[in-house]
Amino acid sequence: MKPDATLAAGTRPFGLSQAARHTEEQPIGELIELALTNPDLISLAAGLVDQETLPNEVTRDIVSDLLSDPVAGKAALQYGPTRGDEKLRHLVYDHMAGLDGISPDLFPGNADQVVLTTGSQQGQHLLAEVLLDCGDIVIVGWPSYFVLTGALTAWQCEVRAVEMDDQGMIPQQLDDLLAALDKINQLHRVKIVYVQTFHQNPTGRTLAEPRRQELLDIVRKYSKHHKLLLLEDAAYRELTYSGPTPKSILSRDPDLEHTALLMTFSKPFSPGLRTGYALLPSDMVEPVLRAKGGRDFGSNYFSQKILARAMETGAYEKHVTALCARYAQKAERMNDGLAKLNRTVDLDLRVVQVHGGLYGWVELPESIRADPESDLFRIAVEEGVLYVPGTYCFPKDPARTVPMNTLRLSFGLAEPEEITEGLDRFARSLQRVCL
Ligand code: PMP
Repeated sequence: MKPDATLAAGTRPFGLSQAARHTEEQPIGELIELALTNPDLISLAAGLVDQETLPNEVTRDIVSDLLSDPVAGKAALQYGPTRGDEKLRHLVYDHMAGLDGISPDLFPGNADQVVLTTGSQQGQHLLAEVLLDCGDIVIVGWPSYFVLTGALTAWQCEVRAVEMDDQGMIPQQLDDLLAALDKINQLHRVKIVYVQTFHQNPTGRTLAEPRRQELLDIVRKYSKHHKLLLLEDAAYRELTYSGPTPKSILSRDPDLEHTALLMTFSKPFSPGLRTGYALLPSDMVEPVLRAKGGRDFGSNYFSQKILARAMETGAYEKHVTALCARYAQKAERMNDGLAKLNRTVDLDLRVVQVHGGLYGWVELPESIRADPESDLFRIAVEEGVLYVPGTYCFPKDPARTVPMNTLRLSFGLAEPEEITEGLDRFARSLQRVCL
């Protein structure tokens, strides 16, 4: 760890916990700093949502309505139940069923198995807290969501990764990994298999339909010592602009035994309201509520009341439709820009076609490095474009070497013309590196 520059000379440091000492700074923080200090830079790095889409007016009207009724207003300003607002729990339960095209009475679980969380990030953390001890193993995609894998490493869990292809996580590889761990009597350490099923962060890939059942079957098969949890993160599900719309993995687990589904209002509505939701196996609900109660009593109740009104009045759905129309244009810019990049640079690039979410993903030839220390990264900043080096997104798996030739390009925050210009700048950077 770096010496603490804020420490006065001669003072002893605090005795930080193991977890705090193992918690690294968010790598993306440095990129945001770079973007802030360099206003001409086009940032295709930050994973933020489009500022234009944020539902300012809808929220203003709801808040004004809510607070004009003193009974409802004061209730919204009170503590709420740890599990979350009852109405919103029912609304999101029906919503999840609706997204899967299943009537709520046939959908797995029920609204009492929904816990409203402070973003879906808290859902991840609560499940990790109640399932994981130091040294336990979590299996993720290669690459995966770096905020979660960073937290797992800080908690001194082992992260093992499973390869992906254009169809998402490869089931056979998961089976092989679990079989190998079983063979050396380490299966009992595996607690969670974490899969993003729609427009994955960082690659934008959606898990193909047949693989969903296969992954669930594998998790069932290796639930020998205890149940393995298939943690399905569908944060980007509602940001779908084209392509297939498979059903969630959870919808295939009729008794809701092995799957937990995490969703969020951050991407389709507003991250500032910090509200997500988890649909949990019934035996996970009480442990999660106990953990949550001890942390925050319950998530922001005022936000929940706003969101319940947005959902029940249809404002939410309307908003998502408008938001997807805007993102679809941006995704098209990204796809066009990536196709042009491929034509311009005459290299064997592998790009993922964007159908949803906020990210494009590029794999360069192995000989071209894209990590933060690389010539490409430095030249891209010189040319005025910022990307997220893929190296940030590959977890510390003791059995694997991180590839240096990948990068993530976000199109959430950038204006449409900036996406095109940013990709042109990136093409120039690649050409300069290849000279
Ligand atoms: N899952 C994934 C894959 C994400 O990319 C993010 C945030 N970018 C989250 C979960 C957490 O988001 P939030 O806490 O805002 O719901």
